This record gives sequence, structure tokens and C-alpha cells, in this order.
Amino acid sequence: MRTNGSGTLDCDIKLCNSLCCRNCAVLTADELTELVADVRKEYALELDPGKYFREAKGEHGIYYAVKMIRGQCIFLNKEKRCRIYRCRPALCELYPVVDVDSVDERCPVVHKLPQEKIAFLKRKYADEVDERIQKEQKFMFV
Ligand code: SF4
Ligand code: SF4
Repeated sequence: MRTNGSGTLDCDIKLCNSLCCRNCAVLTADELTELVADVRKEYALELDPGKYFREAKGEHGIYYAVKMIRGQCIFLNKEKRCRIYRCRPALCELYPVVDVDSVDERCPVVHKLPQEKIAFLKRKYADEVDERIQKEQKFMFV
């Protein structure tokens, strides 16, 4: 069982192999600062941004993408669990919603979720994901 920020999802990670942790989440500079402070407070862990994040350039700004190692998020542990779960980026919390109007169809629980929950997550996406990130079509790593 795994939970996301808006409630409990019945995830069988043996089935999906934590698919949602195979795309890098992108943060603004302010969100990165906040995440580093939250992880310090919650986990007594000092994150070196240069070790865990890569700069990514979009049409509207510079962002920070969580690094991937061998196709998986650097924060995923050997048991396929997030090591910074309580502080994970908004884009991780909102999964399987991946845009204001779309979900990741590859996620095994996506069609088991009530429509109201999907609608709620989409609203949260519109409200909470940085407007510039919402507008970006693609990111270039710098
Ligand atoms: S930060 Fe955590 S929840 Fe987000 S992709 Fe990485 S391991 Fe998964
Ligand atoms: S891909 Fe879907 S089923 Fe798998 S852990 Fe992520 S949210 Fe749960």
C-alpha cells in the first residue's frame, strides 16, 4: 500500500515497479529551497542540491529536476519506497494526475480511483503546480 498527498492509493508496487518514480519531478528554485528545509526538519538529512538535482531549462525559466539513476528517481530506496516521502515534490503527490487535464494511463490504479478523486487532483494540479512549469512543453538539461 502506498499513499499520495491526497489520500490512500492501493498500489501494488510489485505490479508497477514504482512506475511513478521513473519520471523526474521538476521544481522551481523556491520549491527546491523549501524541500531541502523540509527534509532537514523531517528526516534530519542535509540534501546537497548539486548531488540530488539537475538544472533543467524550459522556455519560461530554469528549474531543478530530481536526478535519475539507472532510470529511477535518486530518492527511491532498494525496497522501491521514497526516502523523502513526507516531503516529496507536489508533482509526486499529485500522481497519477500528470497535467491539469491528463492522467498517466500506465499506472495500474488510475482507473480504480473515483472520478471525484481524479477531479480533485486535477484541481490541485492547477492550483499548486507552478504556472511556469504548467506551461513548459519540455525541459533541456543544462
Ligand atoms: S521524490 Fe519520491 S515520490 Fe517522487 S519520484 Fe522520487 S522516489 Fe518517487
Ligand atoms: S505507478 Fe501507480 S500503482 Fe504504481 S506506485 Fe505509482 S501510483 Fe501506485
